[in-house]
Amino acid sequence: MNLSDIRTLREVMNKYGISAQKKYGQNFLTDETILDEIVEGAGISSGDTVLEIGPGLGTLTAKLAEAAHNVVTVEIDEALIPVLKATLADFDNVEIISADILKCDIRELYEKYGTGDGLKVAANLPYYITTPIVLKLLEHSDIIKSITVMVQKEVAQRMQASPGSKDYGALSLAIQYYSDPRVIAEVPADRFYPSPAVDSAVIALESREHPPVEVSDAGYMFRLIRATFNMRRKTLPNALSSGMPELSRAQIENALDAMNLPHTVRGETFSLEDFARLTDLLYEKA
Ligand code: SAM
Repeated sequence: MNLSDIRTLREVMNKYGISAQKKYGQNFLTDETILDEIVEGAGISSGDTVLEIGPGLGTLTAKLAEAAHNVVTVEIDEALIPVLKATLADFDNVEIISADILKCDIRELYEKYGTGDGLKVAANLPYYITTPIVLKLLEHSDIIKSITVMVQKEVAQRMQASPGSKDYGALSLAIQYYSDPRVIAEVPADRFYPSPAVDSAVIALESREHPPVEVSDAGYMFRLIRATFNMRRKTLPNALSSGMPELSRAQIENALDAMNLPHTVRGETFSLEDFARLTDLLYEKA
């Protein structure tokens, strides 16, 4: 069954009385070339265990199952589970999990279904929760080897953004600390049914073996980063004084002096190296 063919997709939806649920970000991919690009971009081979998020009707799942050792796929919409059981009936290497990915224990899934050689994540993500999903996946960088996902084009730009650009922010820093992001395909809105309001891109996040900067405490660095970008228009001392009340203004200004930076500097110009240095200067005092 070729579910990337829009007529087949509609037939299946009619047969099971399914309509695309906006609240779950359901936009089904209808372009076979893009499906192949995701599988290829994710570098899936016959020994791999793939974690997919949001299989929908199983369009991408089937392609992943053909290429991988096995696929664990997590779908929140209970109405789609019987459909998936039917559309994926030919595959004995697909595990369909009826759950919310944000509530799933990824390590437990890996221990139960993984081959012991790490997980590769591939998905056409629900856009309303892209950031929490990706941040959750990055927290498991010891077991997740790569993340290849369809996201809103604008989010892909934020993930790759450099200091000083309008797209640069906490997401850019988190993504670039844990991975090396690379856009592998741009996908116009009309390649989905129904078409979303925005264009999309497939981005591959290759997990780094070592972070690009050394820092005394990465968790503390990300607190500084979040506090900074929660108030990105403010100067760094103002943003940090309000986001991290345990730090005194003098401590923040002394740290900037040590970095030879003016007290009027804004965090949006700070590179990962700058945030690491600031962390090292402030962490001991926290
Ligand atoms: N993979 C399918 C495709 O490419 O056609 C569907 C992709 S659609 C953009 C996103 C999918 O994620 C939907 O099936 C939706 O129900 C599912 N989803 C939404 N929120 C979810 C969550 N919290 N946990 C798991 N799946 C979710």
